[in-house]
This record gives sequence, structure tokens and C-alpha cells, in this order.
Amino acid sequence: MNTTILENEKKEKQFESVNGRFGEFGGMYVPPILESKLLNLASVFESLKGSKEFEDEFLYYLQTYVGRPSPLYFAKNLSDLVGSKIYLKREDLNHTGSHKINNTIGQILVAKHMGATEIVAETGAGQHGVATATAAALFGMKCKVFMGAKDAERQKMNVSRIKLLGAEMVLTHEGRGTLKDAVDAALGYYIEHPDVFYLLGSQVGPHPYPTMVGYFQSVIGKEAKRQLLEAEGRLPDHLFACIGGGSNAIGLFGDFLYDENVAIHAAEGGGEGAILGKTAATLSLGKPGVFQGTFSYALSDENGDIFPTQSIAAGLDYPGISPQHALLKDSNRADYHLITDQEAIKAFKILSSLEGIIPAIESSHAVALALKLLKDKPNDISIINLSGRGDKDVERNLM
Ligand SMILES: *Cc1c(COP(=O)(O)O)cnc(C)c1O
Repeated sequence: MNTTILENEKKEKQFESVNGRFGEFGGMYVPPILESKLLNLASVFESLKGSKEFEDEFLYYLQTYVGRPSPLYFAKNLSDLVGSKIYLKREDLNHTGSHKINNTIGQILVAKHMGATEIVAETGAGQHGVATATAAALFGMKCKVFMGAKDAERQKMNVSRIKLLGAEMVLTHEGRGTLKDAVDAALGYYIEHPDVFYLLGSQVGPHPYPTMVGYFQSVIGKEAKRQLLEAEGRLPDHLFACIGGGSNAIGLFGDFLYDENVAIHAAEGGGEGAILGKTAATLSLGKPGVFQGTFSYALSDENGDIFPTQSIAAGLDYPGISPQHALLKDSNRADYHLITDQEAIKAFKILSSLEGIIPAIESSHAVALALKLLKDKPNDISIINLSGRGDKDVERNLM
């Protein structure tokens, strides 16, 4: 009897972090000056997380400002095309247009409790920059957003939004001008300015960020589970999400990790295909190593040098990945697939014309994966996480 309870307990926790480690992945690989800051952040977060008052404050803003719960929409036309039931979790309907706002509201509340007055953030597609600039405006904090020059060029609308919201945009011309370079620049600024709060946008980087981001995004899966139980009276057979750093995916997956019959699928930004240097499919093609403060998979060579990445989706164009997803991959709890730019563009058009919903090009990768895997499964029920809306992508001639 006792043995069973212990075994269950172990099982219940096997995909969670223990002291910042997800199995062998995660950790805190940073210079000493950052380590003390992060340890302090970790302990503040731990104490806030346990308080009902903090949770109520977080939920208050999610409901009244972000517009949660987001709908779980039965996509009948897409379902007819695929031949089985598909529901879309509509994170695209959140204020500012993606799931990123869940995490920025959560983290800015932590920043407020720590007495921070200035926020720094990185952004790829610009969605995290917009969400952070929004939260900073709401709470009257100074805000600096680092963005790669190439990303700024392909996500112009978000650059204008960030400026309008009163944040300072800092373009980085290092490297390829994408998300990795923006993270490097933001981390550099953070190290030099000890009083600044670094508001990290995805489930990456050193402890406690992966745990914290996973916690704030878990609202997605908790809602989706309740909503599907209401609609269908049972759990889904499949979950789909796109994965850049891993935050919208873990947000949806988190509450289903121990539901063994729910299959979990994630779509990586495959770029031109399985060619190192022309892809951003980190879990499909990378290997374990330390990158930007955490031990996880990365797209690197034998010497640990990072390959250039390529994806049509700026939000997926990143050579690192969440340590929790690294664990889910290695333990075979979730499967990770390479979706090419072409497959994503096709899905972008299909969802737009079939459902009247223009998805972010990032989210289109998840739709493409569902189209691929859901053949001959007429009785199955799936949830696709629609992480964001595609307004930012419509002027890019994806037609
Ligand atoms: C940022 C972004 C992503 C990728 O980031 P994750 O942390 O992997 O979720 C996906 N979709 C949209 C709409 C985004 O803005």
C-alpha cells in the first residue's frame, strides 16, 4: 500500500521541476552576479505562488484585462476537412493578440512585488515585446525591448505598437538579427543593471524562468480541460501546439501531462527542412548542451557552436528550447515534429479561408501538424492551441 502511494507520488512529479531541474535538464548556468539575482527571484516567486492573494491578483487581471477565459471553439469546417473533431483554443483572442500576455501579466506582478521600476525584455515576432510594453504601461514602469534587426524588418507592425505603448525599442544588429541575438543583448543589459527586472518571454533561460513561465501559462490547459469536459464530457485524444521556446505548448500540455491517453504533439519551425543552418527544429535536430543559461537541447555542433537558424515564423526562429520539453521528448511523453515553412503557409491559408480565423504564422505550424497526423482517426477529438493571431503576418505576401 505504502509503496503504491510513493510510486504514484513519484509519477505525479516526474515531468515537473525539482529545484530548477527537469530531470537532468534546466539549472542555472550564469555568471555569479546573475546567480544571486536569480536565486532571489526564485524565492520571491515561490512565496508569491503559494499565496491566495497573489493568485487572485493574477486572475483579476487575466479576467478583466486580458479577456480570459479564452474560448474553446469547435472548428466545424476544419473538422469536416480533416474527418475528426477539432477544437481551437483561442489564445489569438487575448488582449494584444497572443498567449504572451498571460506570462507578462504574471511576471510584472512579481516585478511589482519586488519593487522594480524598470523592465527589460527580448522579442522575436514582437508579440512578447508588445505584451511586455503593454504590461509596463499598465503598471507605470519604464520598459526597454531588445529586438533583432531582421525580426524588426519582418514584424514592422509590432515595432510600431511597442513604440506607441511608450517602450524604448533597441534594435540589435549582432549575429543574424533574430531572437537569439535579442536575448543576448537583453541578458547583457540585465547583468549591467542590477535593479532592472528581466521579463523573459518564453520557457527558456536559467532557473526560475522555465518554472515561472510554465506556471503563468498553465491557465491555458486548465481552461481547455474544463471547457472540453463541458463540451464533450471527456478528455481529448490529441493536443497540438507550435513550439519556439515552449511557452504556449507547455501552457496547453501542462494540465494533461499525467493523463496517459492524451497524445501530445508539438510542431517546430522547420524552415526549409531537415538541414542544419536552414531550420529551427531544435528538438528534432539538436543535441543536449548549455545555451543561454540552461541545460537543454540546442542546435549546435560538436564544439557547442550554435548553428544559424531559419524559420518563416520569427517566434519559432530560435536555436534553444525549454528544458521541460527536452525532458518530455527524452521520456517520450510528447512527440516533436519538423514543420516546414511551406507546410505552415498552406495551413495559414486553409484556416483563414475555412474558418475566418487568420492565425499567426507560428500557430499555423500547429495546424499543419494536425493536418498531417489526423488522418483516418474519425472518432478522435483534438485541441489545437491557436497561440496568436495573424494580423502581424498578413502584409508579408504569404499568398
Ligand atoms: C512567441 C510566439 C510563439 C512561440 O513561443 P513559445 O514560447 O514557444 O510559445 C508562438 N506563437 C506566437 C503567436 C508567438 O507570439
